[in-house]
Amino acid sequence: MSDFSKELAATRDPAKRSWLASANVPTCDFPIQNLPFGIFSEARDARPRVGVAIGDAIVDLAALRAAGHLELDGGIDADEREDVFARASLNAFITLGRDAWRGVRMQLSMLLDAANPALRDDAALRERVLVPMQSATMHLPVDIPGYTDFYSSKEHATNVGSMFRDPKNALLPNWSEMPIGYNGRASSVVVSGTSVRRPMGQLKLPDHERPIYGACRKLDIELETGFIVGRGNALGEPIACDDAQDHIFGMVLLNDWSARDIQQWEYVPLGPFNAKSFATTISPWIVTLDALEPFRVAQPEQTPEPLPYLRHAGQHAFDVALEVRLRPDGTDCATTIARTNFRHMYWTMAQQLAHHTVSGCNTRVGDLMGSGTISGPTPDSFGSLLELTWNGARPIELDSGGTRTFIVDGDELTLAGWCQGDGYRVGFGTCVGKILPARG
Ligand code: CA
Repeated sequence: MSDFSKELAATRDPAKRSWLASANVPTCDFPIQNLPFGIFSEARDARPRVGVAIGDAIVDLAALRAAGHLELDGGIDADEREDVFARASLNAFITLGRDAWRGVRMQLSMLLDAANPALRDDAALRERVLVPMQSATMHLPVDIPGYTDFYSSKEHATNVGSMFRDPKNALLPNWSEMPIGYNGRASSVVVSGTSVRRPMGQLKLPDHERPIYGACRKLDIELETGFIVGRGNALGEPIACDDAQDHIFGMVLLNDWSARDIQQWEYVPLGPFNAKSFATTISPWIVTLDALEPFRVAQPEQTPEPLPYLRHAGQHAFDVALEVRLRPDGTDCATTIARTNFRHMYWTMAQQLAHHTVSGCNTRVGDLMGSGTISGPTPDSFGSLLELTWNGARPIELDSGGTRTFIVDGDELTLAGWCQGDGYRVGFGTCVGKILPARG
């Protein structure tokens, strides 16, 4: 192993501990093995800038670099390095390339290590570069030039096909041949914590000849993950499936809010439009593929064998435990309504990116790719209320009393996700949104 590979492997050592005690709690999402990137601001300095989560704190990378404790090298021009952390999005940093991401992650791993006194024993420096997470406001981590949403869970596609078409032929023939996707709306992607207004639109009631205009009555979540493109491709130059993971910066949790009644009326022939475009929520911390590497597992077997451009060697799924919680307005009691795992996904992120670009379509740094609703094999592992309640036919009991079919105004929905290691977890934090009444 080269020195670089050894240092990279050391960042993922399960035995590694930080001098920051909160990072060593086994249920903490942000141990020293994780080090996800985000954009934050705080009351004492309202400028949004790049931070890395560790325990219950954020390392201010702009302050750390200004203090001379963070190098950026690897053949990068001085112009490009300038102020790369003092920006309101991660795009400039991501554009520096994977060696730069890895270099920063390795330096932070060493600086935060329990055995390293440089920051541990320098109270004045800690005061300048460590921000309590509680006092910070998180922002959208990247400028998102484009957002694409896939439909890659076999269980989800089968459930939806059974409900809306024919249980005997739930999967259309193209589904098993390619990662089905559509171009979503990037402008309405919001960061966790942003309230979402119930959309208005056209609803086609079964006993009406024509649609009515009104507030969505079947508002839903979609439990998804998303990946952020870290290296784009030029127009006309597809990304090969075996190279695709080198183009991924990291992953987030994603809630693809969905208006089922609007969707059902509008989606033929061109797919969802207003039913999905009103909001998509993502979690604020981007967990790098380097941090996720120990949790790589084999993807489900694919039959029929995909066409050659969709084949890749090795393992391309990740073991990410996922949960959805619903908390009604006026109570502290949240009910966990679904538990599943990202490893069930049929099509991999690499296959999604290869398929997206096979036509010659270009991608750009910061592009967001949604996995599609992640549903598991059992009824308590479905990733949407549509499936959990079987289109409203089987209401869910809430721990706080009452039931739900679809989302009620004031409900707060939380997605959570983490990779479980031995004595630690590499977590995503949460992806939260509360529903406001429609603007009637
Ligand atoms: Ca979706």
